[in-house]
Amino acid sequence: MTPAKRKITILPGDGIGPEVVESALAIIIATGAAVEFEKCEAGARAFQKGIVTGIPKETIESIERTRVVLKGPLETPIGFGNRSANVTLRTLFETYGNIRPVRELPGVQTAFTGRKLDIVIVRENIEDLYAGIEYMQTPGVAEGLKIISREGCEKIVKLAFAFAIAEEREAVHCATKSNIMKLTEGLLQHTFEEFAPQYPSIVAKHILIDNCAHQLAMRPEQFDVIVTTNMNGDILSDLTSGLTGGLGFAPSANIGNDVSIFEAVHGSAPDIAGKNKANPTALVLSAAMMLRHIGEGKAANDVEQAVLVTLESGIRTSDMIGVQNPASTTEFTDAVISNLGKRSKLSPPRDYKKVELPPSKAGVSVVPAASRRVSGVDIYVESDLDPKALAGNLEKLIQSSPLRLEMITNRGTMVYPSSGRRVSLVDHFRCRFVLRDSVAAVSDAEIISLVQIVGGQHRWMHIEKLQEFDGEPAFSKSQI
Ligand code: NAP
Repeated sequence: MTPAKRKITILPGDGIGPEVVESALAIIIATGAAVEFEKCEAGARAFQKGIVTGIPKETIESIERTRVVLKGPLETPIGFGNRSANVTLRTLFETYGNIRPVRELPGVQTAFTGRKLDIVIVRENIEDLYAGIEYMQTPGVAEGLKIISREGCEKIVKLAFAFAIAEEREAVHCATKSNIMKLTEGLLQHTFEEFAPQYPSIVAKHILIDNCAHQLAMRPEQFDVIVTTNMNGDILSDLTSGLTGGLGFAPSANIGNDVSIFEAVHGSAPDIAGKNKANPTALVLSAAMMLRHIGEGKAANDVEQAVLVTLESGIRTSDMIGVQNPASTTEFTDAVISNLGKRSKLSPPRDYKKVELPPSKAGVSVVPAASRRVSGVDIYVESDLDPKALAGNLEKLIQSSPLRLEMITNRGTMVYPSSGRRVSLVDHFRCRFVLRDSVAAVSDAEIISLVQIVGGQHRWMHIEKLQEFDGEPAFSKSQI
């Protein structure tokens, strides 16, 4: 009996999507891999039909059935829907890890040619500022919440190490901005440092993200795997794509517990859509990652090798530097198909092991604290008073409260008590109230009463408890 073919959901996408997806499908079919495709709609056409998420119900059902997706880029047309269909897909199927490998490719001329770059960005894919939780707190002041969880950090750190081991890589750098964002970015650094000793064969190093960008521009060959938060990873991975030839060559995998989505890093490139000009390499290499993920390792190696052999033979698409007579998308595809089974002279197939994904936990993930205390509260108010006048007014209002005004900040800078520095102010103040008795704890009733008193005279829009977990303050101090 012939074994059942593995079903894959195909999203041709928008712009150049259908062209590069067709290229990848033709190459996959030519490998003889035991796969079957379910083509579904998502993106611009779905938005135009009034589907606010850009992802029709039938597409979601197909993905739930197949659990593997090969997708073209999806645009978010302005005026349809609020959210990117890409972000919706990633959050809907909780593809928490985004793996973006780049490496020097034969004949792809870059400023770093000859330096054998081979770098993988492992990016957290759900949390951070890209969770998209934003508010206009006043008509002129916007807020975005950077949500980072211990659970999210643990999963991405374990994925980065598992990936490094599967590919027999030597080092994992954790890139964060923990010197400034000590609690959010710091959580990834601490989690990384906690788990790194469990992978003694891998060199583990922390690096500040700005220095990482600098080092990537100066000495990129020092990097192997880099694990980082969502927005940092988005930016760094476009940078690493640029180091190795541009978006036309950058594949990616969005890894989840149940569903994994494989796609090129690039977007729909509307300027070249329908012209048979797009470079399909990024999507074809994403398809190779997908084949490896579903256990079609030989087909994956064949595809990667055929792409390398095609590039070695001098066939170029129009996005490559110095190209004279560019091959069209279909000509490039035909060349790759004709090279299936051949092996690259410069870069032989690698011996990949299966990536051992961290097991998913059932239920709500909880980090326990042996002791907790609420020592105060920040109340955010909109006011056109100067800080001294605002403080004077607040202090008068709270004379009989168990809380006292400790400080006021404006965009993070302390403006009361005044340091004497001139600060340009906006009408958005964070007023920090702490208990007069430094060992007691603030009750919810006391907070609500305080908000009522302050709110009687000032427009407030946000409150935040000042918590301590296990005796440690769980909030940032102001910048003096
Ligand atoms: P983009 O589509 O990646 O295109 C930027 C430029 O890169 C193109 O104009 C083209 O440059 C070049 N390019 C990209 N892919 C190429 C390929 N395969 N072959 C040859 N050249 C390629 O970025 P964008 O213009 O910022 O975004 C366009 C749309 O795509 C937006 O709606 C965005 O939201 C969406 N997008 C989707 C995804 C996704 O689905 N994952 C990712 C990013 C963006 P030339 O000018 O040299 O032709």
